[in-house]
Amino acid sequence: MRKFLLILVLLAAAGGGGAYWWAGRGGVPVITVDKPKALMGQGAVVEVTVDAPGGRLSKLDVTFEQGGKQTPLFALGQGGAAGLTQDGPDRVRVTVPATRKEIADLKSGDARVLVAAERQVLYGVRTLASSLAHPVRVRLEPPRVAVLSMHHFINHGGSEFVVFRATPSDVTAGVRVGDRVYTAYPGRAVGIADPAVRVAVYALLYDQDLTTPMKVFATDEAGNTASADIDSRVFPKVFRKSRIDVADTFLQRVVPAILENTPDFAREVPDPNDLVASFLKINGELRRKNAVTIAALAPKSAPEMRWRGVFQQLGNSKVESSFADHRTYFHDGKEIDQQVHLGFDLAVTAAVPIVASGRGTVVQADYLGIYGNCVIVDHGLGVQSLYAHLSSIDVKVGDSVDAGQQLGRSGMTGLAGGDHLHFTMLVGGNPVSAVDWWSTQWMEDRLLRKIREAGGR
Ligand SMILES: [Zn+2]
Repeated sequence: MRKFLLILVLLAAAGGGGAYWWAGRGGVPVITVDKPKALMGQGAVVEVTVDAPGGRLSKLDVTFEQGGKQTPLFALGQGGAAGLTQDGPDRVRVTVPATRKEIADLKSGDARVLVAAERQVLYGVRTLASSLAHPVRVRLEPPRVAVLSMHHFINHGGSEFVVFRATPSDVTAGVRVGDRVYTAYPGRAVGIADPAVRVAVYALLYDQDLTTPMKVFATDEAGNTASADIDSRVFPKVFRKSRIDVADTFLQRVVPAILENTPDFAREVPDPNDLVASFLKINGELRRKNAVTIAALAPKSAPEMRWRGVFQQLGNSKVESSFADHRTYFHDGKEIDQQVHLGFDLAVTAAVPIVASGRGTVVQADYLGIYGNCVIVDHGLGVQSLYAHLSSIDVKVGDSVDAGQQLGRSGMTGLAGGDHLHFTMLVGGNPVSAVDWWSTQWMEDRLLRKIREAGGR
C-alpha cells in the first residue's frame, strides 16, 4: 500500500514536471526596441515590441534611465492601455513619447531604455521573464540653418537656387516647397569649400499655389529638425489653354504602337480595339505611370553641377506648344479628356539630330510610354532634361554627354501628332519650365551670381 502511494506521488511529480515543461515551451517574451535606434532627439518616441503567445503578458515595464535616474515610461496595467496595441496574433507594441515632458531631466548624453516583460504559465505557477537594456545617445541640440544667398525670384512653374548654411555637418538638408522636398547638395558641388554650406535647386510647380511656403531645412540623425524661410518673390504666369482634335487616323497610328511597346500596361487595357477608350487610358493612366518612372530618376542625380552656363534650345526650332498648356481633347466634336502638357513642343522636321542641351550623364535611353523613344540627361544637383518622341536613340544609360552632343534623331514615337521634339527640364523629378534654363540672364542672376558670392566657381 505504501509502495503504491509512493508510485502515485512520483507519477504526479513527473506529470507536474511534464506540465511545467509543456507550459514553458513557448519560451520567454521576446523584446525588441524598434525606436529610438542609436540616437534620440527632441520629440522622440520609444517603440517596443514584445512577442509572446497570444501577446498575453503579466508584466511589461518600459523605463528610461539616464545618469542613474530611472523614469517609468510605461507599466502594464497602470494608466490604462494607453500606448499599447496588439500588433499581430502573438505580438504587442508599446509606443510612448520620450520628451522633456515625460522625462524631466532629459539631457544630451548617454542613456538606456530598459524593458522588462513577464508572462505567466501553468495557472501562475511558473513565470517566464525577460529584460533588455537598449543603449541610446540623446541629442537635443537642434541643427542650425541660415539662408546665405540673396534675391530669390521664382516664376510660377519655374526654378530657383538657394545657398544656405546647415550645421552640424552630418545633417540631411533640403528645400521644402509645400509638400515637395528638394535635395540640397554640399557646397563643393559648385566649388564652395566651406563644409557647412549647402546648395539646392528647387521649383514652384505649375499646380502649386503662388503662396506656397518655401523653406530650407535640416534634420539630424536623432530626428531634430530646423528650418528657415527663403525670402522669395513669386511671379505669376499665365498658362495657355489649347484644343486638341483627336482624329481616328491619329488613334490608329499611335494607340496600337504604344500598346505594343508597353506590354505590362497593355495587359490592363480591356479592349485594345476600342481606340478612344485605349487612348484615354494611355493619356491618363500611362501618363501618370511615366511621371512616376521619371521622378524615380531624380535621386540618382550627380552631387555635382555638371552643366556649364546656359542650357541650349534646339537650333532652328519653333516653339509649338509651351509649358503647362491646359489641353482639352475632342473626338468627333465631343470633349473626351483634359491634361496639362508639361514640356515644350519644338517643331522640327523628320530625323534631325537631337542634341543634349547641357553637359551631363544619360540616365534614360529607352521607350517610355507616351514619350516614345525617350532620353533623359542628368546634369547634377537634381536638374535633368528630357527629349521625347525620338525616331532613334544614339546613346545608352551611363554615357557622359557634352552640350550639343547628339542623343538621337527626331521622330513621332509615343503620343505625338507629328515630327517634333518634346523637351522639358526636370527639377527633383518634377517638370519645370525650360524658359528659365534657356535664359543667359536667369542663369547668371539666379545661379551663377549666388555661387560666386558664396565663394564658389
Ligand atoms: Zn509635347
